[in-house]
Amino acid sequence: MLGNKSFPFRRLMVFFGATLFLIGLLHLISSQVIYRIPTMTPALFPVMTIFLMVFHILIASFMLMKYLCDKHRLYLMAIACAFGGSSVLMLGTLSSYADWLLCASVSSVNVNDALIYYFFRNVMMAILFTTSTFLYKYRHSDIHTRRNHILILTGLIGFTVITLIFSWLYSSRSEGMSLELVDKLTKIFTPLWHNYLTGGMVALWCLTLIIMLAMTRLRNIFWYSGYLFCTFYIFMLFLLLPAVSTEGYSWYQSRLFETTATLFLIFVLLCDVFTLYKESNSKYEDSYQNSIRDPMTRLFNRSFFYDSLKRHMAEVSQEKPVSVIVCDLDHFKRINDNYGHLQGDKVIQFVAGILQDTTRKQDVAARIGGEEFALLLTDTDTSDALQIAERIRQTVYQHDEVSSNGHLPEKITISMGLFTATQKEAEQEVCVQRADEAMYQAKEQGRNRVVVWLN
Ligand code: GH3
Ligand code: MG
Ligand code: MG
Repeated sequence: MLGNKSFPFRRLMVFFGATLFLIGLLHLISSQVIYRIPTMTPALFPVMTIFLMVFHILIASFMLMKYLCDKHRLYLMAIACAFGGSSVLMLGTLSSYADWLLCASVSSVNVNDALIYYFFRNVMMAILFTTSTFLYKYRHSDIHTRRNHILILTGLIGFTVITLIFSWLYSSRSEGMSLELVDKLTKIFTPLWHNYLTGGMVALWCLTLIIMLAMTRLRNIFWYSGYLFCTFYIFMLFLLLPAVSTEGYSWYQSRLFETTATLFLIFVLLCDVFTLYKESNSKYEDSYQNSIRDPMTRLFNRSFFYDSLKRHMAEVSQEKPVSVIVCDLDHFKRINDNYGHLQGDKVIQFVAGILQDTTRKQDVAARIGGEEFALLLTDTDTSDALQIAERIRQTVYQHDEVSSNGHLPEKITISMGLFTATQKEAEQEVCVQRADEAMYQAKEQGRNRVVVWLN
């Protein structure tokens, strides 16, 4: 699969370059710090484990929630099981540090149990990561039936639980099975741990990384965090390989690497949440704008105009008058008849542009009918509103085919009616009706004019 021509080798090189640089830097800094400290407090390792455990619980919960939001992402459940199971095994590790809270001496640590939990944790995570990669690869195939989901989820949870049971059975808490990974007195690793298990874990993580790279092909940042996780784990095990006994600082360093890889994954998940939030916010904004605007002119629609007018009428007074202007294009049928409906639409869009440009941000310019428009001018008395209406009328009248860039096939005119409300008693429908009446008077008086409604 790696031989496929479309495999992004360049990105792979960049990824490995950046990861190796990061590993080198972390190793240098941690070596400088750790090796200068003469003795470590016995509580340090358990505290680091607690932090890591909390991070793993966070990731497991996050993956579970993400899966519940989108059931097609079944591959996330394998990762949720990996981190959930890992945090339970870390609880086991903590239990092998008896009395650590009381800062008792390190001699009370059951290192053999800690190593057993560590081994099972690595094996379980690597296998579940590989499973997740396969589920991701075949996410578009027909595995998404209810029956298959139940089967796969049962398999994932079953595997995690069986791993947990085996780690418990092999630990000192159970009599039946035993696994000697370290000599209790000398703290020297047994050949089983030193010669086979550490190397086996390195091989398993390398295999996981190769499968992950081949299947997911450096597609997105989520999988990058997976590659980083595997690479850090491989390096972490390399740190442990030369250790002959449990004494020494390599365990602290390896836990630091594990925590860094986990933090990077948490960072990626947070970025994911942020991106999703941004996307859904802009989708919401788009659909909201579509619900309040007219699709052809992008002016506000009739219902938004009436809603806004209702809101403003609640606060209207002599000091805060609200003016309503209703406009209708003159002899518009003729445009349609002579030049066609498409040209008619262009005329409507052109006039809408003039209305939009002439009104202020706080005003509402709306298309309330075919070639009928309405303006809501807040804090505007009759004389100011009349000036605005006149300016619009003249602008429309001044344009011709050339100045309108072909939007107007000939000169057109507009008739306008104006009503100003200064008292709360008027209903919004009444305001529009009065402005409409004034507009009809303008039509009757010869068109191309503004008429103010008078009682
Ligand atoms: P008046 O001066 O009395 O207003 O004459 P008019 O021809 O403009 O008459 P009226 O306002 O009754 O006619 C409106 C016409 O506008 C009728 C309809 O075919 C046309 N119209 C309505 N909506 C649209 C539209 O979205 N696009 C186009 N091209 N024409 C439309
Ligand atoms: Mg008309
Ligand atoms: Mg009309």
